[in-house]
Amino acid sequence: MRLIHFSHNRKEYWGILEEKNIRIIREEPSRGIKPVSKKIPVDCVKFLPPAKPTKIVLIGLNYKDHARELNMALPKEPLIFLKPSTSLIGHNDAITYPSSVRQLDYEAELAIVIKKEGKNIKPKDVRKYILGFTCLNDVTARDLQRRDGQWTRAKSFDTFCPLGPWLETGVSPKDLRIRSYLNGKLRQDSNTSEFIFPYDYLVSFISKIMTLNPGDVISTGTPSGIGAMERGDTIEIEIEGIAKLVNYIK
Ligand code: MG
Repeated sequence: MRLIHFSHNRKEYWGILEEKNIRIIREEPSRGIKPVSKKIPVDCVKFLPPAKPTKIVLIGLNYKDHARELNMALPKEPLIFLKPSTSLIGHNDAITYPSSVRQLDYEAELAIVIKKEGKNIKPKDVRKYILGFTCLNDVTARDLQRRDGQWTRAKSFDTFCPLGPWLETGVSPKDLRIRSYLNGKLRQDSNTSEFIFPYDYLVSFISKIMTLNPGDVISTGTPSGIGAMERGDTIEIEIEGIAKLVNYIK
């Protein structure tokens, strides 16, 4: 099932995407999926990020191919960091290139959206806490990341967290092709089977540190092939079985 968060005539809704139409649901999907009869054509809506997180938790290095590319040893435990909820944008929105930044990179990532509150979740129970999976672009001011040594400023500008276009609830995240395209040219092409830490381990690990709330986002790291974007570019993140997230740089 594809869960879509959108606005239509200035009102905000959640719905189920059925081919070219959206069937509206009554409440946020973490409270239960109760469809109503009203349908809206998907062409008439504005996509919103398919999550309202209290936090966005990301993983520093989680693909074996990316570790090889960087000539780095595989990490013994996940390195995690945060982005603020104010960095979120949806499908078809513009990423703003800050005037203080000299290198703005894309990072294609598979994101998890949490369904219900959880603390100290065991890996075998993780799936019950997940609402769905989607595409995330971990936009990064690489020059500021190098300069600051810690990552908050480099990762946190408004518009630095494109998410969407929707949540896929039924997919298994263990063997999915993940790609990014810059202006239509393939730049990253890997598979979630390259994960250093599996998704259930990551969610369990994070839940031992912080309580996970409905709508929280966990992003699972990027594969090899990251690179820079310029104003006017189009960046696309595509994950097999989920969708393609498209954004523009301005
Ligand atoms: Mg990243």
